[in-house]
Amino acid sequence: MESAGASAGPEAPSCSGDPVPELVGRLGCGHWNSPFDVIAIRFLCCDQWFPCLHCHDEVSNHPIRPWPRHRHDEHAVLCRMCGTTLLITDYLGARGCSGCGAVFNPGCALHAPVYFGV
Ligand SMILES: [Zn+2]
Ligand SMILES: [Zn+2]
Ligand SMILES: [Zn+2]
Repeated sequence: MESAGASAGPEAPSCSGDPVPELVGRLGCGHWNSPFDVIAIRFLCCDQWFPCLHCHDEVSNHPIRPWPRHRHDEHAVLCRMCGTTLLITDYLGARGCSGCGAVFNPGCALHAPVYFGV
């Protein structure tokens, strides 16, 4: 169910799930501009990385599909401080990045149902 007409730019989304390198080192986004916003999420619905659900919605015209529980062992969370990718299960159980110790925004946990269906 790809909606190709969303003008997402010339680059086709890679299916490798590799995070977008330019996300690393850029904290916050247009919606959550705080030093705690260190993560980016890989969205299951389009296999692209975005800093937040609003960033996703701005360039996508489809609803977010949460990661099903049986796929919580996927690397779908990126620490933009250090570029480490975390398993969803690790992210949900952690208060900070295992790579660099950056503390996650506690507010992000409020959106866990949107991203991860929990
Ligand atoms: Zn999507
Ligand atoms: Zn955003
Ligand atoms: Zn980190």
